[in-house]
Amino acid sequence: MKTIFEKISDREIPALIVYENETTIAFLDIAPISKGHIVVTTKKPYQNIYDIPEQALGELLNTVKKVSIACKKVFQADGINIINNNEPAANQTVMHIHFHVIPRYIGDKVGFDFPHNEVSDDAKKEWYELLRSNIV
Ligand code: 5GP
Repeated sequence: MKTIFEKISDREIPALIVYENETTIAFLDIAPISKGHIVVTTKKPYQNIYDIPEQALGELLNTVKKVSIACKKVFQADGINIINNNEPAANQTVMHIHFHVIPRYIGDKVGFDFPHNEVSDDAKKEWYELLRSNIV
């Protein structure tokens, strides 16, 4: 079954497509978080960051960059958040890899509720050892 983003790419459901090339497509989010919020995705339905091949990810990020520069220019955004959610636990609702390009404006009420925590040096050392020996 096609994902909703494949259906957009195949023109089976409408969307305000602002850019596309051979492998990627960018369109306005149906429920924008801020003025100019855009979803950038691949034409092939990779699920998320785990399964997308490196080259396809590079192409996707190139489009994220192009779209971000356009947002900055046309909306005079004061900043831009680029967000990629992976799996439902991390708020992924469409199981087709995508990056959100979310223009930000000084004084906007957009909030990202990511509280920071204090963690012991021992715990951090353990994380460090695990990661150092598992990044390939
Ligand atoms: P996620 O939560 O998976 O990171 O984000 C999915 C995003 O896709 C949401 O921000 C949602 O508003 C957007 N979205 C879902 N369905 C559609 C659709 O049919 N059209 C458009 N343009 N955006 C959609």
